Amino acid sequence: MPYAYRPFPVVPVKTPDRRHKVAIVGAGPVGLALAIDLAQQGVASVVLDDNNVVSVGSRAICWSKRSLEILDRLGIGEKCVEKGVTWKVGRTYHKGQEVWNFDLQPDPGHKMPAFVNLQQYYVEEYLVERCLQLPLIELRWKNRVTGVAQDTQGVTLTVETPEGPYQCHTDWVVACDGARSALRGMLGLDFDGELFEERFLIADIEMKGDFPSERRFWFQPDFHPGQSALLHKQPDDIYRIDLQLGWDADPELERQPERVIPRIEKAVGHADFRLDWVSVYTFQCRRLRNFVHDRVIFAGDSAHVVSPFGARGGNGGLQDVDALGWRLAGVVKGRDPAILRAYDRERCFAADENLLNSSRTTRFMSPADGAEREFRDAVLALAGRASFARPLVNSGRLSRPCTYPLPGADDGLPQGARPGSVAPDAPLPAGWLIELLGDQPLLLALGCAAPEVPDLAQLQLDRTPEIIARYLGPAPHALYLIRPDQIVAARWISADTETISAALTALWSPLS
Ligand SMILES: Cc1cc2nc3c(=O)[nH]c(=O)nc-3n(C[C@H](O)[C@H](O)[C@H](O)COP(=O)(O)OP(=O)(O)OC[C@H]3O[C@@H](n4cnc5c(N)ncnc54)[C@H](O)[C@@H]3O)c2cc1C
Repeated sequence: MPYAYRPFPVVPVKTPDRRHKVAIVGAGPVGLALAIDLAQQGVASVVLDDNNVVSVGSRAICWSKRSLEILDRLGIGEKCVEKGVTWKVGRTYHKGQEVWNFDLQPDPGHKMPAFVNLQQYYVEEYLVERCLQLPLIELRWKNRVTGVAQDTQGVTLTVETPEGPYQCHTDWVVACDGARSALRGMLGLDFDGELFEERFLIADIEMKGDFPSERRFWFQPDFHPGQSALLHKQPDDIYRIDLQLGWDADPELERQPERVIPRIEKAVGHADFRLDWVSVYTFQCRRLRNFVHDRVIFAGDSAHVVSPFGARGGNGGLQDVDALGWRLAGVVKGRDPAILRAYDRERCFAADENLLNSSRTTRFMSPADGAEREFRDAVLALAGRASFARPLVNSGRLSRPCTYPLPGADDGLPQGARPGSVAPDAPLPAGWLIELLGDQPLLLALGCAAPEVPDLAQLQLDRTPEIIARYLGPAPHALYLIRPDQIVAARWISADTETISAALTALWSPLS
């Protein structure tokens, strides 16, 4: 059955509008998630969206472990896992032969799986439901932002509605208005980076099938000669098929069912399916030079765009929310706005990592003539026979959380939990460690008692095999300071109150 779009109620805005602390432009996954994060930290926001339905067409389907952990902190992670198709194994084929495979979560003991596949419209639907539970969020549908002006005191947005225009005055604006961001244009900003001319047909089809819950990628398969193809299973018997078309394909022509259906028939080997959604894309790997522009902050696709091979777009956007929410909440509550510079620095660093991975994959799939093509073809030819060539096969390096370059890594404690990385999950006698982290700074005392530190919550845990493997290594005990976004801020084998207090203060520094 096709997804049933239910329009959200459009409520006329009473004018003159009250002044807001935060206005979020765009109710995509990033804008909605940010509104929830702020509300959970006691900060009100108004969300302005030019539409009144969730994402039309599927778009993002692969949500990473880190995104699921973030969505869990925001209240919808379990729902996404329940509805989604869980997977962790990817297989890559060249002309019918398997040349590479990967397992994204070889060790058990995590609340969230490596990935779930779930259509973007479901994720947005669940986020909207969660927003409606939080009185600090006001959702305004069919509110299109058409103008922006800012000074040192605040920002004024011009908003078009079915009842006419109004002015929205706010202290802060977060532009979550997507890849074609109107706000980006209004501020005279543009992306830097690469545009790939390659075209891809992306189709969702409904069919009964017994494909395993794995990612399948083919280079030069018999059913699509000379090109590449990708298959993902989604809920509701929907399958995503991506077919590379070549740079000179005509998008209008290729979108026509009489062109699409025979291609899909060849890929799945029968005609017993319903076409749910089709589009033809080219991709960009580009970003804004900076994400914070005085009182207007960019997050998600408005700040950076990547090709979907690697699932780094929506997942990267949710990690922007994670890094921004607690800092912006802090600023609204009176902290120095300069701490937003740390958001800018961290997420530009992360965007570069995503752009690098995404553009390398796109180049491998669609190499330029000359050395690039020779390298790609040689790797594929060798991979079937020589194990050293297999890790060079690049059909997508899937989204992983960025480890921010924070000081303090070389202390003998495990590298996977070094400062700047996401605090690893671990099973507890009741529930999961990750469920106890987030929304506020926390001192994690592992295998020891923690010194009292004013204004800092504490959690003391015993040594278990997972805690030892992920947090302690050979050390008998350790203290970890965890940020509100579940990132390790600092750690010590032992530390006194003053040292920990200083690290807590540094959390709110622009240099942290
Ligand atoms: C084919 C395809 C497959 C993808 N697959 C994946 C995947 O598997 N995993 C993944 O992580 N990512 C994937 N992505 C990327 C993912 O879809 C995006 O990164 C994600 O949607 C970005 O979310 P966002 O909230 O920043 O922007 P959007 O989802 O674009 O939301 C922007 C919102 O702003 C609103 N808006 C725009 N202009 C205005 C305005 N002037 N005033 C008010 N509102 C406005 C829009 O209506 C929209 O609701 C894929 C993308 C495509 C195209």
